[in-house]
Amino acid sequence: MRTLTNARIVTSQGWTAGWLRVDGPRIAEVGAGIAPYPAAESVDLGGRLLVPGWVDIHVHGGGGASFDDGDPERALAAVDLHRRHGTTSLVAGLVTASPAALLRQVAALAELCEAGELAGIHLEGPYLATQRCGAHDPALLRSPDLAEFQRILRAGRGHVRMITLAPELPGALELVRAAVSEGVVAAVGHTDADYATVCAAFDAGATVATHLFNQMRPLHHRDPGPVAAALTDDRVTVEVINDGVHLHPAVVRMAWAAAGADRTAFVTDAMAAAGLGDGDYTLGGRRVRVADGTARLADTGAIAGSTITLADAVRRAVRDLGIPLAAAVRAASTVPAAALRLADVGALLPGRYADLVVLEPDGTLHAVYHRGRPVTGVPASRGQR
Ligand SMILES: [Zn+2]
Repeated sequence: MRTLTNARIVTSQGWTAGWLRVDGPRIAEVGAGIAPYPAAESVDLGGRLLVPGWVDIHVHGGGGASFDDGDPERALAAVDLHRRHGTTSLVAGLVTASPAALLRQVAALAELCEAGELAGIHLEGPYLATQRCGAHDPALLRSPDLAEFQRILRAGRGHVRMITLAPELPGALELVRAAVSEGVVAAVGHTDADYATVCAAFDAGATVATHLFNQMRPLHHRDPGPVAAALTDDRVTVEVINDGVHLHPAVVRMAWAAAGADRTAFVTDAMAAAGLGDGDYTLGGRRVRVADGTARLADTGAIAGSTITLADAVRRAVRDLGIPLAAAVRAASTVPAAALRLADVGALLPGRYADLVVLEPDGTLHAVYHRGRPVTGVPASRGQR
């Protein structure tokens, strides 16, 4: 048992001075004021902020590794990089690949889910629109195939938590219904669908819009498309890549104004370069060049994911957008956890995992706990991009 005392603890209402007691991997108790436990087993946080660990539901890699490498050891390097920056739950994203490659990748990542290192797997593709493929290989895109989808789910041994698909493709709505009935979250993305088609996907059970604005039919006042369909539907959580590259800050503000703190999930869409510098990398087998922190396909120049962590997204939200820290924290933890029904994380409540981030009053990282244990190698985030 260990008690973190003298903390300012985030709640749905704001901040409360108090303490949090950890028992093994889980939160045992949370209280206001002075902790009623001996100082000998306490860690004094000196008035710092205590928030839930971040939950990244759209991330492809980091620390030099990609989840599509199909190698659990390398995937752990990505997990470690993000964890040191406060992301204690990652849903590993797989981009479009051949049927055989996807089965291999999903089986490899399922091991890490079973080991408690990943919170699940997100299939971004392969049922996406060619004209909105972004960094996905257009030659490998295909129409929704229920039999293939079931094979992938079996290979994932229950750990595929989410699939992004384009709802205008033949059989897409059937696939949305099949996903929902299997407990998999269906998300709309990489789509050229019109407003009515996206609304039909939400009515069929889709509940997430994948990286809102990016690689979807743009918002137009007579052709509102996926953006308006997602922002105006209370059932839908919108993913926002707040890296200063994918979206203009004014567009993030607009999405935030429409979807609010309860339906906006910050995601990184990070690729292998997250946490490293500029250079040459791969994503889904394609060459990616990172320059000035921006990842682009070497051949087409399409943006190929980000190089940030959720700590960066939170910091940018506060610094560049004027979003209150408590609300930004919610968008990086509580909202994405709820969107994927990850019931063990996303809030500082008894019974949940003791996945914790300690922040300085200005929002920079001080310490990270994963399942009750301090994470080593947490960078002083001050001054980082
Ligand atoms: Zn994407």
